[in-house]
Amino acid sequence: MASDAVASLASRLSAMEPKSEEQPEASTSAQPEQDAPEQPAEEAAGPQASNLLENLSHEVQVTLADQQADPNSPLYSAKSFEDLNLHPNLLKGVYKMGFQKPSKIQEKALPLLLQNPARNMIGQSQSGTGKTAAFALTMLSRVDMDLKAPQAICIAPSRELAIQILNVVQCMGQYTPVECFFAGKDSYQKGMPKLTQQIIIGTPGTMIDMVTKARVLDLKEVKVFVLDEADNMLDSGSMGDQSISLKNLITKMAKQPQIVLFSATFADVVRTFAVRFAPGANEIRLKQEELSLDAIKQFFMDCDNEQHKYEVLVELYNLLTIGQSIIFVKRRDTADEIARRMTNEGHKVTSLHGKLETAERDQIMESFRDGKTKVLITTNVIARGIDISQVNMVVNYDLPLDGQGRPDPETYLHRIGRTGRFGRQGVSINFVHDRRSFEHMEAIRLALGKPIVRVDTSDFEQMEATLKAALKA
Ligand code: ADP
Ligand code: MG
Repeated sequence: MASDAVASLASRLSAMEPKSEEQPEASTSAQPEQDAPEQPAEEAAGPQASNLLENLSHEVQVTLADQQADPNSPLYSAKSFEDLNLHPNLLKGVYKMGFQKPSKIQEKALPLLLQNPARNMIGQSQSGTGKTAAFALTMLSRVDMDLKAPQAICIAPSRELAIQILNVVQCMGQYTPVECFFAGKDSYQKGMPKLTQQIIIGTPGTMIDMVTKARVLDLKEVKVFVLDEADNMLDSGSMGDQSISLKNLITKMAKQPQIVLFSATFADVVRTFAVRFAPGANEIRLKQEELSLDAIKQFFMDCDNEQHKYEVLVELYNLLTIGQSIIFVKRRDTADEIARRMTNEGHKVTSLHGKLETAERDQIMESFRDGKTKVLITTNVIARGIDISQVNMVVNYDLPLDGQGRPDPETYLHRIGRTGRFGRQGVSINFVHDRRSFEHMEAIRLALGKPIVRVDTSDFEQMEATLKAALKA
């Protein structure tokens, strides 16, 4: 990571201490946004990208039971849920969700998360391997159901992810009397009574406003504080500041809350910061080579220019709708523009980004989740955490770049991780259209160490055959 990123983290590290007397910053209730509304489009330049040979092997479908039995799979577990000492009502909820055996991260993390006295946790595991259940069961196990007050706080980088987590917690807790509250933009009114729900899940800006401005969220009974997508929560500008402010509020008001951080990625510099954020934490980490899931087949399409990218995307439409797919672009207006053009051509697509009203965002997400819409064009706002098992294709129409315009392998990993969830197969396709975008992709490929196979865009029949084979594999 570049030195400016290190410097910015270092300044936040020092902002974390001293903890106790720090005054919380006034925050806005604006949603944390990760998409880039204003940057100029990248100029097209340079010669065409390389010729890599395709090498597609047809693989035999492996069942979930097979994968859970394979010790090398992140879905493997030696234990059963019974061995994890969960409350019988939670066990019932877990089985109701159709989980038969814990995944590796659940098996390893839960005993550490549930031990007494409680210890902090920094947990890492690949995308789609069941991190949510690990921290959801922790929150559900730690709250006192007879006490009608907030006792577990969970924050996530987007409204959509927070709502998804809330649904998982409610589903797992369905045989308990637990009550949950969603703390996102537009979810509370001034003058409402204090929250009595035990588990509060939302985005950090709103959460702080509810504590300091509306004064409806009382933190003194908080026992667990969870950050999902924790590296992102701590690393990104205003959201990082908000997460730290919220942590300071919680540690000031509550007695020794357990701090729990989960993500698929923790870049070294963020991990250093995370360790200070969650002192004395048990750590579960991945080796570099374990980062990406082999179940996701990666391709790239060598396009001539921006306009050609659009044409190729339209050409892909039939494949995109075999299951469901997510198309990532850099800018909100690109998302809207592609959606508008494709809709005009009679294709059914929707766009989702942070500029939309909350009600509209919720409605678009719900209809995608229900499978009513098949193709979602979006920005980084939902690059992380969103779990929709029918998504079998992810398109990086624009490759992910960081704030400095450099290739961003972490965001790439999260984006492609929207497919290939819990042992399923998935396909990801990168669009490159000039030397620069090709170099960006190469940097990402090198960082992740997994092949990205070229697909010929001049032969659509071949392209379709190649991708169909990968989707079937
Ligand atoms: P992560 O946060 O690690 O990316 P999620 O928590 O979103 O992954 O889980 C991915 C999918 O796997 C979800 O649909 C979830 O319901 C499913 N899942 C999680 N744990 C299990 C399990 N033990 N058995 C079966 N499915 C599971
Ligand atoms: Mg997750």
